[in-house]
Order: sequence, then structure tokens, then C-alpha cells
Amino acid sequence: MRKPRLMTPGPAMVPEDVLLELARPVIHHRSDEAKQVIVEVAEGLKEVFQTQNDVMILTSSGTGAMEAAVVNVVPPGGKALILNAGHFAARWGAICKAFGINAVMIDTEWGKPVDPDQVAEALKQHPDAVAVFGTLSETSTGTGHPVEAIGRVVAKTDAVFVVDGISGVGAMECRPDDWGIDVLCAGSQKALMLPPGLAFISVSPKAWAKIDAFESHSYYFSLKAARSKAKESDTPYTPAHTLILALRTALRRIKDEGVENVWKRHKLMSEACQAGVQALGLELFSARPAEGLTAFRVPDGLKDSQIRGKMADRFGVQTVGGQAKLKGKIVRIGHMGYTDELDVISALAALEMTLSELGFDFEPGKAVTAAQQVFLGKTADALA
Ligand SMILES: *Cc1c(COP(=O)(O)O)cnc(C)c1O
Repeated sequence: MRKPRLMTPGPAMVPEDVLLELARPVIHHRSDEAKQVIVEVAEGLKEVFQTQNDVMILTSSGTGAMEAAVVNVVPPGGKALILNAGHFAARWGAICKAFGINAVMIDTEWGKPVDPDQVAEALKQHPDAVAVFGTLSETSTGTGHPVEAIGRVVAKTDAVFVVDGISGVGAMECRPDDWGIDVLCAGSQKALMLPPGLAFISVSPKAWAKIDAFESHSYYFSLKAARSKAKESDTPYTPAHTLILALRTALRRIKDEGVENVWKRHKLMSEACQAGVQALGLELFSARPAEGLTAFRVPDGLKDSQIRGKMADRFGVQTVGGQAKLKGKIVRIGHMGYTDELDVISALAALEMTLSELGFDFEPGKAVTAAQQVFLGKTADALA
């Protein structure tokens, strides 16, 4: 017998009360009952997003919100700057290309944070850029980008700052209204503690001005249509209403804990996981780690498939490897959403036992001890 532990950076574990919501009979999505649910989740989403802007619900995976941002904000032939620092950031460029948008890639080495000065320079060179597309938490490298500083730079220009917060919203501090983030995207299966299937997108008045200036080149992802229906606590097409019911429960959990406490908890989990990994002599991949996951380099002489395979088969702990050019080079442990101290400790314990069986040279117990020290030192003030 083995308990599955989904320590992947999306999908992530779903709490029991949220799972139970998914077993309820389907209700009609235009009923008063359904609209009441939308009223409540609309408020809850604003709180998780920490914004006064509209937050719309899309029935799609997170990439749907990214595509919605692109096709509504930038007209065909328009110019976009892409802060290209990882696999998901590169997706902004791919979406732009698919819609005939001129995507200018501003490259940053994977694992390094985007430099706000470089963004300022790029905006000077490209004053005609309609939008800058960036990432809060680059899940492919485990990097948290300084979106606050970048937002301040973009806010001084006419360009709109669009941020992929799919694995960051609900995991890392993010204050779009104060930080100059105009459009923020999130997905249900990351820190929001739901199965995959819903995406969320917030839009500032500055971004709405761009959106209202042209006819979006998408029908399903028209944000104007989503906005007008959201005013009536409705959606333009049949939403994944069962997931929205579950979302209500997940958002209530976040509200009860308090968004800032949720951020603090994620910070603590990431500090403990990083400390554990480093105590084994392993190297973190990112120079500025994100808080919903920890990425470390595969040590010389071992294969990522051996490590991840044993952790999953022997201990039930699921992790993911690297994507694109990082394939085989890193292991990523997710600790976003419904994750507590013992989840992190059990993942580190599984990692230790795995490395031990693979003959890796280290002192057993060190990772678990390091994580415990972080927790014991910080639990009292960091967790409510
Ligand atoms: C997961 C993820 C995506 C893709 O989301 P899907 O739900 O798979 O479409 C995009 N960006 C980031 C940062 C992610 O973590």
C-alpha cells in the first residue's frame, strides 16, 4: 500500500471538502442558485488576486487566460514585448505568433530573474509596444520574477503589463493594483487547490482601454463578452459550473486563512524545501526561487528519471522533471496550495531514501532536519 502524494507544480493536491463539492448534482448554470455562487466567487477571486479590477472566469486551462490576454489586448500586427525567461514565458511568444502579433523576445537566462532595467531599455527601443508579457512564477525553472519592480517600469509608459500568475497567484505575494500589473492570469490546478479546468483573468482600466479600442480576434475568449456577462453574475457560455462550486469552497478556505497568511505559508514551505535540498549538497536551479515549487539540479552520475521514478513508485511522491531544454537536468517539487509542513518533510524524506538507494553520497537525515529547523524557527510567527 502506498499513498499518492501529488507534489507536482500543478496539478496540485485538492482538499477533501473541495473534492466533495465535485460530487454534487449538476445545477443549471443560469439558475439563481448558480448566480449566487458566481457572486460569492467573484468577491473571493478579487481577494485572492488582491485587486479591485474585474476578475473573469474562463472555462479552460491556464493557457486559455494567456490566450485571452493576448488576443484581447494586442491587435493583429501590433507589437508585444515578451520577457522570455523560461518555457512558460516563451509560450507568450508562441501565442502572439499564432495570432499575427509582432513578438519581440527580451531574453533572460533560464533560472535568472528578469532585470527591470532591461525592460526599461526595451520599452525605450520599442515605444510602440502595446503590451509587455511577463511571469510571476516561472514554473519551468522555479523562478519568481520581480514583477513589482517591472510593473513600476511599465506603468510609466503607455504599454500594458500582462502577467502569467498561473502558478503564482495564491502562492506568492502579488498586488496588481499597487504594482502596475494590468492583466493577471491564474489557473485552477495550481495554488488555488482545484482540479484543472478553470482559468481566471483580471483586467485594469488601462488594459480595458486597449481592449475596447478594437474587435478581439477571438470569439470564445472575448473579454468584452465575459465582462458584460460578469456584470449579471453570469458567463457568456456554459461554464464548468461544478468546478465553480468547488472554487467557492477553495476560496472560503483561503479567506479563512487570510491571503497574506497563505503567502507566508508558501514562503515557509519554500524556505524549508530549499534548505532541505541544499542540506543534501544539491544545487537549487533558480537564482531567485519561486515560492510554490523548488527546482534542483540533477546531481552528476544520476538521472532525473531514476530519482523521480523511485520517489513515485516506492514512496508515492510525484514530482516533475525539466521541460524543453531543461529535460533531464532538473527535478521540481511542488508545494503549492493544499500543502503543509509534513508534506514538505515527507517529500524530503522520500528524496533522501531515494538518493540513499541510488548510492548518492550524503548524510541521511540532513534534509529533514534542515526543514524541521526552518519550521521550528519560524512556525510561531509565520503561521497564524
Ligand atoms: C501551469 C502553467 C501554465 C500552463 O497552464 P495550463 O493550465 O497547463 O494551460 C502556464 N504558465 C505557468 C507559469 C504555469 O505554471
